Amino acid sequence: MYITLKKGTTIEEANRLKDDMSSTYDVTVIIDMFNNADIGMIIIGDFDEGILSNAMIDKVIVDDNNDIKNSQMLVSKNVRSSTIVDVGGVRFGDKNIPIIAGPCAIESENNLDNIARSIKGCGASMLRGGAFKPRTSPYSFQGLGLAGLDMLRTIGDKYNMPVVSEIMNINELDYFLDKVDMIQVGARNMQNFELLKVLGRVDKPILLKRGFANTIEELLDSAEYILRGGNSNIILCERGIRAIENGTRNTLDLSAVPLLKSKTHLPVIVDPSHGTNLATLVEPMSKASVAVGADGLMIEVHDNPKRALSDGKQSITQEQFCLMMTKLRKVAVAIDREIR
Ligand code: PEP
Ligand code: MN
Repeated sequence: MYITLKKGTTIEEANRLKDDMSSTYDVTVIIDMFNNADIGMIIIGDFDEGILSNAMIDKVIVDDNNDIKNSQMLVSKNVRSSTIVDVGGVRFGDKNIPIIAGPCAIESENNLDNIARSIKGCGASMLRGGAFKPRTSPYSFQGLGLAGLDMLRTIGDKYNMPVVSEIMNINELDYFLDKVDMIQVGARNMQNFELLKVLGRVDKPILLKRGFANTIEELLDSAEYILRGGNSNIILCERGIRAIENGTRNTLDLSAVPLLKSKTHLPVIVDPSHGTNLATLVEPMSKASVAVGADGLMIEVHDNPKRALSDGKQSITQEQFCLMMTKLRKVAVAIDREIR
């Protein structure tokens, strides 16, 4: 249940109220997250006004809107119409649609430099690259680890692009906080709840990818874990789910984009590379993603996909990326958005 505090209530008063109620309820105070008040509270359980002092009763508005699912109070569009997530100056959820691009895995500084230079020249605004790779087989390339994150930072700085990389183990959190502008939670960790709780307490944007066997409701519940810790800088990512079709490794669920956007204030982006696992489908599905309202794209690009150490089959070349960007800009204009 929500409690909103009337305008003029101070943070000190809110915290005192929280202390008064914490023996009876699990209470979270949220600053600046509600439409109609600067301070709000979430109470788990049925709220009894009788526990408030007379002075406090005057300050409180109880909102028992039954449409709000108890488990998705912070992620819901009911608390806020939209959130813009700023990642090192790149804004997601605005009119502009930022494009994140780069290799699946960081392979060497030289390779990353080549890719970054050309994608930046064609309009990518953020650089991606995995340093810790979740590979199905233990014999596949596992990533360069911390050395990879160093390379990502160096090249991101060189081309003035904020960087994103996937965290797999909470032990590396401090290194990630130091080196990347956004921390990615991959499909396989979408329900790693202990990881989500820790990421809720950090001051860093989180890219939360949908698990390939998870529903949209489960994705929203996972985002709620992060929000509950106080971190509202979350971008959701549709990256394909397992379905009966095996012509593509995953089935890109584009209906997830408008559905998510009708339920949550968080920006939603699409990863058509993992969503299809086929390089030839990346451009058409990118166009479709922009058309259905995605707030960004994440695209795997490699200078020699045949020799890529991971996900070469779904990686497009820099040339293909540049051609695609020209076409995507036209789709963006058609729906009154833009790709700068
Ligand atoms: C990735 O983005 O490199 C990745 C492994 O994605 P996913 O978690 O969606 O499989
Ligand atoms: Mn990949």
